[in-house]
Amino acid sequence: MNGKAHALRIEPQPWMIEPATQGVLAALAEGGAEARFVGGSVRDALLGRPIGDIDIATPAPPDRVIELLQKRRIKVVPTGIAHGTVTAIAGSPPRHFEITTLRRDVETYGRRARVAFDADWEADAARRDFTINAISLDPDGTVHDAVGGLADLQARRVRFVGDPATRIAEDVLRILRYYRFEARFGGGLGDSQARAACRVMAVLLFNLSGERVAQELVRLLGTADPARALQMMAEDGVLAVVLPEARRLDRLRNLTEIEPEPDAVRRLAALVDVDRAGAIALAERLRFANPVRDRLGGLTPPWGIDPSADIIAQRRALYRLGAERYRDIALLLAAEGAMSRQRLGELLMLANAWTPPAFPTSGRDVTALGVPPGPRVGELLDAVREWWEARDFGADREACLAQLRKLLAAEEQTS
Ligand code: ATP
Ligand code: MG
Repeated sequence: MNGKAHALRIEPQPWMIEPATQGVLAALAEGGAEARFVGGSVRDALLGRPIGDIDIATPAPPDRVIELLQKRRIKVVPTGIAHGTVTAIAGSPPRHFEITTLRRDVETYGRRARVAFDADWEADAARRDFTINAISLDPDGTVHDAVGGLADLQARRVRFVGDPATRIAEDVLRILRYYRFEARFGGGLGDSQARAACRVMAVLLFNLSGERVAQELVRLLGTADPARALQMMAEDGVLAVVLPEARRLDRLRNLTEIEPEPDAVRRLAALVDVDRAGAIALAERLRFANPVRDRLGGLTPPWGIDPSADIIAQRRALYRLGAERYRDIALLLAAEGAMSRQRLGELLMLANAWTPPAFPTSGRDVTALGVPPGPRVGELLDAVREWWEARDFGADREACLAQLRKLLAAEEQTS
C-alpha cells in the first residue's frame, strides 16, 4: 500500500497494459515525466463500462510531451496546444491518447480560458467539470480522488467540482455537459445545486454557437435513456433556450421504449413538434450537415404511411420513402400511439425483408414508341409507374410496355 493508508488500487485494465498505451507511458517516463490516466476512461473503467479515447495528464509542458513522443516515433498531433493538449496516435487499430499538461485556468471568459502550465494534480482536478470526471489513475492502477468523485460515481451523483454557478460562469457549455452526464451517470432528480445554477444561468446559452449546442444535444440524444435528463432541462428552462421546438418529450419517451436501436436524429424528430419547414430551420440553426438536415426534414408530418392500410399500400409507401425513412416513420407513428406494438413489428419486418424491384421501364421505351422527347415522356412514365405500384410491383417489362402502348392508344383516340 505504499505507506499511504487505504490507497485504493484497481486491477490494471486491458487498455492500460496494451502495447500502444505502454509505449506512450514509456515515452513520457523516459523523459522523467509523470503521467496519470484521467477523465472519461478512468470514470468508465471504474464503472466497468467500455472506454472511449484515453485521456492522460502530465506535469510536462506540451512541447516537451511532443519531443518525448517523437523520440519514440509515436505519431503526435498538436490538437489543442494552447490548452496544453496534444494527441498521440498509436496501436492498431489506432487509439487516440489525449495528453494534457496539468493546468490551471488563469482567466476565463465565456468559452475561452487563459491557462498556466504550473499546476499540481490537485489544481488539475479542481479545474475539471464534475467530480466523477476528476478521478485520476496511476499507471499501476492506484486511484487518486481529490474531490470525492468515487462516492458520487457510486451514488450516481453528477456534481460540479466547486460552486456550480462559478463553474458555469467560466464556461457555459458546462450547463449542457451537466445534463448529458446526468443522462449517462446520474439518477433520480439530479443535483439540486447544479440544477439551480443551470436554471439561473440558462440564458447564457444564447451565446453558445449552434455547432456546440448541436454537438452536445446529439450526444445527449445518443445516450441510452435521454428522457430523464431532457425532462430536467425542460423544468430548468434550459430546453426552451437551446431547443424551443422540444415539446414532445412524451413521444421521445415512447420511442426509446420501442426502438430496436438508439438513433439520435430519429429521437430528435420524435422530440420536436415541427413541420418540414420548422425542421429545416432547426437544422440550419444547429448547423447540421445537409444529409442530416434532409433526413430530419423527411421525418415530419404529413408522414406518408397509413398504419391500417393493406400490404400493397405498405409496399408502395416503402417504395416511395425508402427503407430507412419508412422504418423511422413507422417508429415515430408507433411512438405517437398511432399503431400497436404488434402492427409496428409487422411493418418493420416488411421493411427489413422486402427489397423493392427496379421499375422495368424507362424514358427510352417511351420515345421508342414515337413520343418526342419532352415533359410528356415523364408524365407517361409516371402513369405506368403508378399502375405498376398499384399492381404490387408484379408487372414485368413486357406488361409495363403493354400498359404504355395502351395509354398511348387511348390518348390517340381522344385527340
Ligand atoms: P466522453 O466519454 O464523453 O468522452 P469525457 O469525460 O472523456 O467523456 P471529454 O469531453 O472527452 O469527456 O473531456 C475529458 C475530460 O476533460 C473530462 O472528463 C473532464 O475532466 C475535462 N473536461 C472536458 N470538458 C470540460 C469543460 N468544459 N470544463 C471542465 N472540464 C472539462
Ligand atoms: Mg473523452
